[in-house]
Order: sequence, then C-alpha cells, then structure tokens
Amino acid sequence: MNLHEYQGKELLSSFGVAIQRGIVAKTAAEAVEAAKQLTETTGTGWHVVKAQIHAGGRGKGGGVKLAKNLKELEQIAGDIIGMQLITPQTPPEGKKVNQVLVAEDVYYPGASEPNEFYMSVLLNRATGKNMIMYSTEGGMDIEAVAEATPHLIFTEEVDPSLGLMPFQARKVAFNLGLSGAAFKDMTKFVSALYKAYVGSDASLFEINPVLKTSDEKIIAVDAKVTLDENGLFRHKDLELLRDLSEENPVEVEAREVGLNYVDLDGNVGCMVNGAGLAMATMDLIKQAGGEPANFLDVGGTADAARVETAFRLILKDPNVKAILINIFGGIVRCDRVAQGIVDAYKNLGDAIQVPIIVRLQGTNADIAKQLIDSSGLNVLSATAFQEAADKVQEAIA
Ligand code: GDP
Ligand code: MN
Repeated sequence: MNLHEYQGKELLSSFGVAIQRGIVAKTAAEAVEAAKQLTETTGTGWHVVKAQIHAGGRGKGGGVKLAKNLKELEQIAGDIIGMQLITPQTPPEGKKVNQVLVAEDVYYPGASEPNEFYMSVLLNRATGKNMIMYSTEGGMDIEAVAEATPHLIFTEEVDPSLGLMPFQARKVAFNLGLSGAAFKDMTKFVSALYKAYVGSDASLFEINPVLKTSDEKIIAVDAKVTLDENGLFRHKDLELLRDLSEENPVEVEAREVGLNYVDLDGNVGCMVNGAGLAMATMDLIKQAGGEPANFLDVGGTADAARVETAFRLILKDPNVKAILINIFGGIVRCDRVAQGIVDAYKNLGDAIQVPIIVRLQGTNADIAKQLIDSSGLNVLSATAFQEAADKVQEAIA
C-alpha cells in the first residue's frame, strides 16, 4: 500500500525523522490558509506547492512549484488542484490531482557543495537483510545515476536482528561527505529513518531529496512510502491512510471479497487456486501465444459464489478474449468446483461472451469433466496442461 507524500512525511515525523514542514490542502483558499499558518511557525513567506498523487517525477511534470507570496501561491494551487498531472511514472493520461501539500521553502540559492542527497530503505531479498541505499546525487533521476555512475550509489546492509548500528549511521554520513553539525544530524536522521521503516512494517522508503539546509540540518523533502500489506493488521491507524481513488478499482473490489487479484495487460483471464499454480498457468498462457490479463488466486474454497465473483471481476476487463480456469482439486473435490463453474455460468447469463477453458485435476476429475462436457455451455474441458494450452491458443486465434 502506497502513501501520499504528506502522509509519508507525517509517518516519518512521528518516528522522529526531521521533515520539511507542510500542510495539505484541497482548494486554493485552503492552501492560502495553510501557508499563513506555516509562516507563523517557520517565518518564511516562500512556499512550495506539491501535487499529491501516487507517482514520482512530479517536479518534472509541473506538479511542484515555488510560490514567493500568497497571491502566487493561490494562483499555483488553483492551477495544480484538479489538473491531470503527467509524469514519467503515471499512466499516459496522467493522474488527477485532488490535493496539494503546501510546504515551507527550505532551499537556499548558491550552495557551494552538494546538499541534495538520495536515500532509500528496502529489503534485499537475496541476503534477507534490510538495506539502506544512498547517494550524493540526490534530487534528480536516481535511475540515471545508477546507469551512468553506479559508483556514486552506496549500500549499507542492516542485519534485522541487530538493527542499524551506530558505526553504520556514521559511515553513511561520512560517505555523503558531511562534517560537523550536518554529520551528526545525518547519523540521527538515518537512525530514525531505519526505526520508522521497521516500526511501520514498510517495504520501501524512498527519500529523494534528503536536504542539508543552510543551518546544517538534515531533513526529508520528499517521501515515497510503501507499506507491507501483510503487516497492516498491526497498524490499524496506517490502514486508514489508504486512498482508494489511487488504486485499481477491480483490485479494490477483489480485496473486499478476499480474492488475490492483480490486474495485468493481457488477453486471457485466468482463475486458479494457489499462487504457485497461478504463476505456472500464466506461463502456460504465454506459451500458448497469449498474455495473462490478470493474476487471480481464488484460494481453497472454489465454490459457486466465489467462482461467480471471480468471473465478474475478470469480465470487467474488455481485453479478455478467453478465460482459463485451472484448478487442482485436492481438499476441494473437482466435481464440486465443476458444479460451481456451471452454476456461476448460468447465473451470469449473457455476461459471458468469451470461450472458457477449464482444466480440473485431482479428486473426482473424471466426474468433473463429464459435468462440464454435458452442461451444454460454451465451456471446453481439458485434462492435460498442454491440452489446455492448445485450447487457449485456438480460442484467441
Ligand atoms: P518528485 O519530483 O515527485 O520526486 O517530487 P519532490 O518532492 O522530490 O520535488 C521535486 C523537486 O522540487 C525537488 O527535487 C526540489 O528540487 C524541488 N523542491 C522541493 N521542495 C522545495 C523547496 O522547498 N524549495 C524549492 N525551491 N524547491 C523545492
Ligand atoms: Mn522526489
């Protein structure tokens, strides 16, 4: 689950990470009020207005702008709120901006040394350790830095059972070329950031830029936060931060009914039980010359109601030319599943306009096949993997 920048910054702040201060606003008038309120605490009349969407690269797309007075701020906020913001990370049509973060201007012109850094915390699956990635080349495209000058990106692996050791925090500050007060502040910043990452069950923090201010303070100017969905049950407060308008509507619906569904770009819908079999089925579809339209694990109980819901979700995708159902009947008997498919099909009536290929293997597979074959519906049965692939190929030809 992704957070907006303003939510990410609040989360960081609650763990003691220093941030660029800001207030979120939904209208230009609210933005002006936010700026006035900020000026009272920060003393600066300059503010940045930042579009809040779940995508990076907002600066490049015109979603981050500096306002030097309230009149400019009102104008800029009015322009950004409601705009369709296109960045390298949004879909081609962009994303609608519903709110902006009004933040204190923390930049100062004429800095003589690098003062924008890059820092992320993530899991290194290969080593089973958390990892801090950081670079002096902050503010810009970190992908371009990784491509052209990979030696400028440092990594620090953290043993999760030990946590970030003080010497590691010092190493980070040293490698970033800091000294004096900024060095000390960076060690505090990294330590707090790591605690926030672990404490919120995050799977990714990306802070770009981390800024060294004119008074040698280290603060987070941006915050991309991804939380691990499997840890959300421990963070009811964070779960409330979910912005459904930023998410794929079919995936939202699937989650509500407890189905594991991921939307993809292909033309063959699939309905499978078990994540491993689902992956294998997606490979099968590719071999047959198709592209999977989704990942869908219906789980252990493939009864009529669940199958029907799964059908409904898959059929919302206009690109679907065929549906492949691949279910292994171990605990759940194949004939039950087959009956479920037939019942769901009948309930859906005309909603199903595409051929359906069903492969049921396991307990009572033979009875299941008879049930499907004698149903009179546009459902093709297959027993072997290859047979299913061939039928998919025919269906989408
Ligand atoms: P992103 O483009 O989506 O990654 O959004 P960021 O939050 O990183 O902002 C983009 C850029 O806006 C930053 O790299 C900065 O150069 C600039 N920016 C952010 N905050 C300020 C600020 O307080 N003052 C000024 N002048 N520029 C800022
Ligand atoms: Mn950024």
